[in-house]
Amino acid sequence: MTPSLRPFDRQHLQEALRLARESPRLGSSPVGAVLVDAVGEVRARGRNRVNEAWDLGGRHLGDASFAHAEMDIYFQLGRIPDAQDCTLYTSLEPCLMCGGAAGMVGIGRILWACDDPWGGSGRLIAWNEHQAFRHTEVIACPFADLEQEGARLFAPEARRAYPEEGWQKWHERYPEIARWVDEADVPAPQEDEE
Ligand SMILES: [Zn+2]
Repeated sequence: MTPSLRPFDRQHLQEALRLARESPRLGSSPVGAVLVDAVGEVRARGRNRVNEAWDLGGRHLGDASFAHAEMDIYFQLGRIPDAQDCTLYTSLEPCLMCGGAAGMVGIGRILWACDDPWGGSGRLIAWNEHQAFRHTEVIACPFADLEQEGARLFAPEARRAYPEEGWQKWHERYPEIARWVDEADVPAPQEDEE
């Protein structure tokens, strides 16, 4: 199936990037996500909260390695009856956990701003290839400027969090940005292990 962009895709990816910028101020990783229904209405906004407190009243995950932006959304919403008609936007290619959860929830469409050449699972989450899941349309990096923005946002965290081999993958995928992070010694937003 040929990926097809919708008129509201760009604005929601920008919103995911905006949410990603909120997390470092609170000690978490710069990743954001938005879930949108078939007509472009926002159902939930999420962001990485790995180094923040749990907020069960507000259904926000926290203080855990799995408190990723996408999981933040799934926990806020619980069951999503029209998940197949919904689109998940993320600032960074989802990890295997979040991509797997998207398959369990039944999300019909996933877009991300930039690849995560080490931790991303995008190449695995076209769930139409899995017999137990319904179809998922996957669209990677549809806007060149937002891809650059997303990669610049997460690259310092990638250098901090990933082993040497992982950072090497970033150098191969986003060489200019990775060189910039190394040369300018751009700090990651947090010190703890993710
Ligand atoms: Zn994840």
